[in-house]
Parts: sequence; C-alpha cells; structure tokens
Amino acid sequence: MILYGPVMSWRLGRSLGVDPVQPPKICTYDCIYCQLGPTRYKIGSLDEAYRLRTFPSAEQLRKELERKLRTCALGFINFITFSGCGEPTLSPNLRELVLRVRDVTKGLVPVAILTNSSLICDERVASTLAMFDLVIAKLDAPSEEEFKVVNRPHEAIRYDDVVEALKEFRRRYRGVLAVEIMLLKYKGLNLIEKVDEYKELIRYIGFDMVQANTVTRPPQIEEVKAISKEEMNEFARVLREELRIDVKDPYSSRPLIRGKLTLEDVENEIYEVLKRRPCSVAYLSRILGLEEKATVEVVRRLLRRGLVEEVVYRGEMVYRAISSS
Ligand code: SF4
Repeated sequence: MILYGPVMSWRLGRSLGVDPVQPPKICTYDCIYCQLGPTRYKIGSLDEAYRLRTFPSAEQLRKELERKLRTCALGFINFITFSGCGEPTLSPNLRELVLRVRDVTKGLVPVAILTNSSLICDERVASTLAMFDLVIAKLDAPSEEEFKVVNRPHEAIRYDDVVEALKEFRRRYRGVLAVEIMLLKYKGLNLIEKVDEYKELIRYIGFDMVQANTVTRPPQIEEVKAISKEEMNEFARVLREELRIDVKDPYSSRPLIRGKLTLEDVENEIYEVLKRRPCSVAYLSRILGLEEKATVEVVRRLLRRGLVEEVVYRGEMVYRAISSS
C-alpha cells in the first residue's frame, strides 16, 4: 500500500500519508533516533536508488487514492503528505506521484512533503520539491559536527552543501518552507543548548516556520533521549520572540473524528501506520478516531497473525510492524 491514514499529525492536522519509498527503509541518513531502525540501504544519490529497486508508480497511487476517497471525503483531509519508510525524494516517480495526487483531488487538498533535505543539491530533487505546497525540511544539526553524530549521513552528503542548497531553494520556492528540528540528548550532546546557532541558521536560510520535534517513539539507539516539555517551551519561546516565527511542537495534539470503517479497513489502516511508526494503543486510537477497546482488539489480531510485535518504550507498551525482509 502506498497510502496510509488519514492520521492525526501534530504538525498537519488530518493527514493522508503517501509513502513513495515503501519498506524496507532506504535513506541517505542513518539517524540515531530513527524509529524505523538501522538504515540497511544507505545511499548517496538518486542514481544509486534507481539501480537498487523499483518504486511505486503513479498509476498504483491513483487506484489507491480513488479507492480511499470513496470512504473518506476530501474535505476531511487537511493535507496529503509524502513521507514514509525512508527519504521520499529518493523515488524516481515523485514528480508523477504529485501530479497524480493533484489530478485525482482536483488540487483541492494541499500537498506536503517531509524530506531530510540531503538531496536538495540535486536539481531534479529541488525542482520536484518546488511542486509541493509545503516542504518540511529536516535540519537537526546546527553544524557539520552534530550532523555526523545525529544524522550519520552517507559519505557523499556534505552539511554545508545542504545548507547552501536550502538557501537557494528558498530563493526560488513560492510555497511554505518549514524546518524540522529533532531536539534530543545523546551522551554529552544536548541540542537544546544550541538555540543561538539554530536561530542563525533559520534566519540565514529564511524558513517560514519551525517544527520543533523530539523523540516520542523508540529510537534505534537507546541512549538517545527526548527533551522535556519545559525545554521545548523555552526553545519555542526564544525562536518566537527573537525571530517572530511560527513554532509548532508535538506536545500539543488535536483529536480526530472520522466516519465508520469495517474491521478489515481498520486492521489494514493500523498495520499501515505501524509499518511506518511504532505507536501505543492510545495514540493509535487518537489518530484514527477509534475507541481504545476496538483498537486493542485489532492490535491483538495483528499480534496473533505475527504481523506486529510489542516493545516497551519510556514505560509504555508500543506496537510496531515486524519487517518482512
Ligand atoms: S532521515 Fe528519516 S528515515 Fe532517514 S534515517 Fe533519519 S529519521 Fe530515519
């Protein structure tokens, strides 16, 4: 399945997800906090990705989207969001996928993408990103040093090139450009202490919005820790006051209300979400608008079928899909 959700996203409201990459993860980074586990296919260019595997086609997306829209009204969706099992800009079909979404939805729903920014130096990627209404570009590190520790990029990706390419993209892009920063603590590193460096970077590139995130799902390295709500509030306050910029963070969320679905629909939807992010029953219930009792029932069915597993994270039971590869 290319589509998943709609899920309730702390940054985008009701978001229908498009995964142009598909499991297993393929990425240019191997972030220490990645909820998808280690990057087995770490690559440094589009051409490498094209050689490695095939990606979902625009036709496949059209069929799934038309089917989805039979049970989910367009007006119910705030964003159609490209993200998923790895870096979405690695898909050679990305341009066609966006065009197909616009075609099927008649342009009535804005289209967003979550990118890790690594390939924006490639003109093919930059011009495709420019087709989105909202680009959320990851920039977790305020310098090359933290970049290597936190994102562990492929050796072909250089921090300064990414920053300069983002600045150039900003100059020509007419949509909304947000930066996503994953604030975390790891060994002696505490990214919250770098607020002045982030300020400079945000100003230099000219982002419209900040999405300050932290580790809310099991990271691939256990020593990676989240920052607290108080630390997040302080970070957001400084950026708002000094840069006069909109800052969103995951400590606030809104409930989702949705129409009736069959048990099979719900099972599929939960499985598609768990393939991309480990979640607790409470979280699944919230993002899918379900009673917790019903969610527990469906999760149990998935456990019995051997499709998901239980993991304890920060004292809470979460569920994640078992990789099929
Ligand atoms: S960029 Fe995203 S998918 Fe890639 S390793 Fe980092 S968190 Fe995981």
